[in-house]
Amino acid sequence: MQLIYEKSVPGRRGVKLPASDVPVASALPATLLRTEPAGLAEVSELDLVRHFTNLSRRNFSVDTNFYPLGSCTMKYNAKVLENAAALFAPFHPMTALLPGGAELCQGTLGMLYDLGRMLADITGMDEVTPQPLAGAHGELTGIMLVSAYHAARGNSGKKKYVVVPDSSHGTNPASAAMAGYEIVTIPTAPYGDMDLELFKAAMSDEVAAVMMTCPNTLGLFNPHIKEICDIAHSHDALMYYDGANLNAIMGKVRPGDVGFDVVHVNLHKTFGTPHGGGGPGSGPVGVKKALIPFLPQPRIVRDDNGTLLLQTDNKGTVGRMANFFGNFGVMAKAYAYIIMLGREGLIRASEQAVLNANYIKERLKPYYDLPYKMTCMHECVFSASRQLEHGVHAIDIAKFLIDRGYHPPTVYFPMIVKEAIMIEPTETESKATMDAFIETMIEAAKAAENNPQALHDAPLTMPVSRLDETKAAREQNVCCIG
Ligand SMILES: *Cc1c(COP(=O)(O)O)cnc(C)c1O
Repeated sequence: MQLIYEKSVPGRRGVKLPASDVPVASALPATLLRTEPAGLAEVSELDLVRHFTNLSRRNFSVDTNFYPLGSCTMKYNAKVLENAAALFAPFHPMTALLPGGAELCQGTLGMLYDLGRMLADITGMDEVTPQPLAGAHGELTGIMLVSAYHAARGNSGKKKYVVVPDSSHGTNPASAAMAGYEIVTIPTAPYGDMDLELFKAAMSDEVAAVMMTCPNTLGLFNPHIKEICDIAHSHDALMYYDGANLNAIMGKVRPGDVGFDVVHVNLHKTFGTPHGGGGPGSGPVGVKKALIPFLPQPRIVRDDNGTLLLQTDNKGTVGRMANFFGNFGVMAKAYAYIIMLGREGLIRASEQAVLNANYIKERLKPYYDLPYKMTCMHECVFSASRQLEHGVHAIDIAKFLIDRGYHPPTVYFPMIVKEAIMIEPTETESKATMDAFIETMIEAAKAAENNPQALHDAPLTMPVSRLDETKAAREQNVCCIG
């Protein structure tokens, strides 16, 4: 495929702008002004449309095919939600922040306020800040709140550690380290959850927080979760809940009821915004009462008359975590999604997500090793160790799936599973789609025994085959593909 610059013909134009009749009076110093044209490709409108349409067809998305990526819910999100977000487009994010602006923006602030109330209800928290821009950013915000909480009680010198299970998403220890803590990692026990005895042994009054994902990244719900919260609290440590993938438990169990003090949710996984492609995301953080004084500002509060105001004078705040109110469009979609599904709909979404994952787990169990055999929640984790006996790795199976029109499941994560293949079908897929995927996975398992070379050669249908993935990540040059 030609680069757009290779199609450039001097003088060719896609659009014709009227000549400017505004005097060029610039506040920019002359040294910053462009002296030569920008060097853009000169192409017709049709050249441009074809170029980008062809490029877009090389994109893989949920809109085109099944995308069973474990740990990072990749479900179909209804297009009507985009319309809902567009309704708010005329609102300028600065308006509410200007003097007297809050009065003009009661509807918009009301949407944010109500979304916070609904997320607080769903997670069992007392208040939610919408500011964080992603899951990891929510984690950082949450741990900063934990840190502010301990500092306010005169304990910041004493609290040194954040405890995480070794199955946790890599952002958990990274966020805690960024907030200034040392990390203590607890291994997973053979039953598939954080080893309770090792956890007890690691706990001390020097622990600031314990970060848990429940269900964890093996898709398993920890039966000891209440006990873990109680033990943490007995050491004055706070419990952090990584709620990136809440479609496992919505309407079934609330982290706040179990004993968690802080939780983030990924609106861009569970609540109406497609995940991936680098964003935008949104990772609101919910807290229990004791942490409200430290929440980021401005905080949207309701006065006695029901008017929404922006509170900006809270001395204990950890400060601003994002411009304006966070990623507003993503929040508008989450708001519309929750209203559209309603209480019963959210519960059904969770039930369907869990049922679908268990269906795939049961049907693929005869063909792939299942290291942890419990009933799973929204995702299941296999190991390609049986296929490895024939020299076939998880990555070979992933590449084979690409040729069959499937996005590969997450492979090699969680790292505690050898040759991990982590599948999350999500609540939005039909039985027919899952059955076709299962058949393809069975075909891959058979090929591993009978014709491993076919798996090593895949993918054959893509513009590029096997990439040096480290080099590709370090020296990105997407223009040259094709
Ligand atoms: C996706 C995910 C995160 C991080 O969320 P980002 O929005 O990608 O920063 C954290 N924890 C878990 C379990 C996740 O799946």
